[in-house]
Amino acid sequence: MKKGLLIVLSGPSGAGKGTLLAEVKKKGLDFVLSISVTTRQPRNMEVDGVNYFFKTKEQVKNMIANGELLESKQVYGDEYYGTSKQFVEMNLNAGRDVVLEIDTEGAFEVKSKMPDAVLIFIVPKDLETLHARLVGRGTETAEQVAKRFGKAKEEIAKAVRYDYLIINDNIDTCAEEFISIVKCEKLKVHYESNKKLIEQLI
Ligand code: 5GP
Repeated sequence: MKKGLLIVLSGPSGAGKGTLLAEVKKKGLDFVLSISVTTRQPRNMEVDGVNYFFKTKEQVKNMIANGELLESKQVYGDEYYGTSKQFVEMNLNAGRDVVLEIDTEGAFEVKSKMPDAVLIFIVPKDLETLHARLVGRGTETAEQVAKRFGKAKEEIAKAVRYDYLIINDNIDTCAEEFISIVKCEKLKVHYESNKKLIEQLI
């Protein structure tokens, strides 16, 4: 059984991560999106178990203590976000590609534990576009928008430690680029199943 590819997608809030993944899916790339746990409140249309597993702080702290999270992070002051280790490993072992939509700190934590993970960063073409998107989606208060916008530059500075950069000018092009990255990664000699095949052939 070929092991799946672990893909980490990060980018500032409002860069278009969700839109990109929806477009990639529409174009037929089969992947599983990891559902994170979070302590933040659900937004308008968000559903528990679909967008996030919404938990209490107590529950997330217990998960961390029990080693159930591959990575976890406290962002925007006091909310927790984390990735379920079991969910990721189960899907990778079943041969499915798994996408983690997580922040930069989480991405580096994942890369240190799972060096084969591919890190992709998405940026807006300029900061004005980012600000307009944050305001336009109308899901955060003005104060939250200001906080997220402030954090955006900090996040973008960390993009240099990623493997790939996608510039969100045209979402269709971005999706094609994302698919190309996945294809290329699977052709790499050091991709686990390729290494195994070479061993079998010699
Ligand atoms: P949002 O509140 O907009 O859904 O997410 C806020 C930030 O948290 C985003 O940058 C998102 O990528 C990040 N995030 C979501 N889930 C996780 C997670 O499981 N771990 C980490 N480290 N970051 C996450």
